[in-house]
Amino acid sequence: MDIATARKRLEEVRDELDRSVAVLNGAHQMHPLVADYPQDPADAGSNLSESDRAEAILAAAKARRVLVLDALARIDEGSYGRCVACGAEVPEGRLEAKPEAARCLGCQVKWDRSRR
Ligand SMILES: [Zn+2]
Repeated sequence: MDIATARKRLEEVRDELDRSVAVLNGAHQMHPLVADYPQDPADAGSNLSESDRAEAILAAAKARRVLVLDALARIDEGSYGRCVACGAEVPEGRLEAKPEAARCLGCQVKWDRSRR
């Protein structure tokens, strides 16, 4: 994937996240029940309230937005596509699936573990 394509995809993801965050913020203020958010049957028995769910989705969208903005900054710096931890090239397939990926899979697994 070339840099221009990566930038375009990241900007699309960022815009989409901006919309989601705006909608969720609005939904959260006006409709704490977020009635039209699709209910996952697997969660039906959980004790998370709808507003907790909206909160969790909002937090995830904001966290991903930070990663996307970081990736766009790395494009500007010229370091995009390299693992921020070990400097190895992040495999093409991983960037296709997740253009905001900052680490190769090995470093990502270690990073996730260290934060648990
Ligand atoms: Zn790495």
